[in-house]
Amino acid sequence: MTGGAGFLGSHLCERLLKDGYSVVSLDNFHTGRRSNFKSIRGNPRFVSMEHDVVHAIDIDLRFDQVYNLASPASPPHYQSDPVGTLKTNVFGALNALEVARRHGSRIFQASTSEVYGDPLVHPQKESYFGNVNAFGPRSCYDEGKRCAETLFFEYSHMHGVDIRVARIFNTYGPRMQPDDGRVVSNFIVQALNNKDITVYGDGSQTRSFCYVDDLVEGFIRLMSLGEAPAGPVNLGNPQEFTVLEFAKLVIACTGSRSRIVHKGLPVDDPKQRRPDISLARAMLGWQPSVPVVEGLVKTISYFDQLLRAKHVVSQSVP
Ligand code: NAD
Ligand code: UDP
Repeated sequence: MTGGAGFLGSHLCERLLKDGYSVVSLDNFHTGRRSNFKSIRGNPRFVSMEHDVVHAIDIDLRFDQVYNLASPASPPHYQSDPVGTLKTNVFGALNALEVARRHGSRIFQASTSEVYGDPLVHPQKESYFGNVNAFGPRSCYDEGKRCAETLFFEYSHMHGVDIRVARIFNTYGPRMQPDDGRVVSNFIVQALNNKDITVYGDGSQTRSFCYVDDLVEGFIRLMSLGEAPAGPVNLGNPQEFTVLEFAKLVIACTGSRSRIVHKGLPVDDPKQRRPDISLARAMLGWQPSVPVVEGLVKTISYFDQLLRAKHVVSQSVP
């Protein structure tokens, strides 16, 4: 797996080990952390290797399955080094595909709802081609992921590689980084600290939030399917919130005294996003099962513990 030390990757490593697989994680720890391996470190079927997927992957092992997750995912992270983001997504996909081609492995691509850009069709079906700006601040990620999808489908056509492409919509849960700038982590950390909740724009833009365990179940089902789907498959929660509604929900779930303040809306911020998951329902028998409030309570508890631990550490430093 590439990107195993990240938020989604570490949950996927855990699940695959639980299912009896042996797992090798390749990660350069750009946005991932070794501490994400806390629960699996020491497992004899788990190996973590430091590797930048921009460079060829040359490992003397045979893999039945490859999961390609390496890429920064939060806008501040992927915009901090746009060319690096493009290289990771394009060369990383090529290098992972080469492993799958050589080993005859089935390979999974973590694609994204960002391939739909600022969508003019709502909700988004896989057949929608998207509305993506080729040179805006989000383009390095959106176009990198779009090019990676093309590489996956061409490796399938040209080399017969067995590919599975998931278009992942906003996902949240424990092990998100408190300072990654994403809406879920920002709002929860702000609420727990009773600081202002920063809603960008008027908060009327929408997102749909999927709990991490549900998403990982979708990955496993997609990879277990006997025959590869003809195209990408949306995975996400179709329950849609405006960002303002979501801020109020986080305040209610944390019992915070935070106030909501408005800040500038980032350039090219998608105005609406909700997956049409009919294909995942029909092909995988999959849909999210964790209600948003339940997932939020678990995530809030994770951040609460993390912030308390940090507080103790910072207090103990003279
Ligand atoms: P994350 O930033 O927590 O994890 C990404 C991992 O990739 C990190 O461990 C990072 O160190 C690693 N990485 C980055 N560049 C690398 C490189 N050049 N070589 C090796 N490793 C590298 O992000 P995440 O939320 O876990 O996302 C995982 C994947 O899922 C990404 O591909 C992302 O685009 C995709 N995705 C995530 C979401 C979401 O809501 N979390 C939504 C859509 C798509
Ligand atoms: N957002 C916000 N306040 C924040 C962080 C994000 O209002 O502190 C908004 C952001 O403008 C976007 C939505 O929340 O409309 C989701 O942002 P995120 O960065 O989590 O994901 P993405 O835009 O990639 O879906």
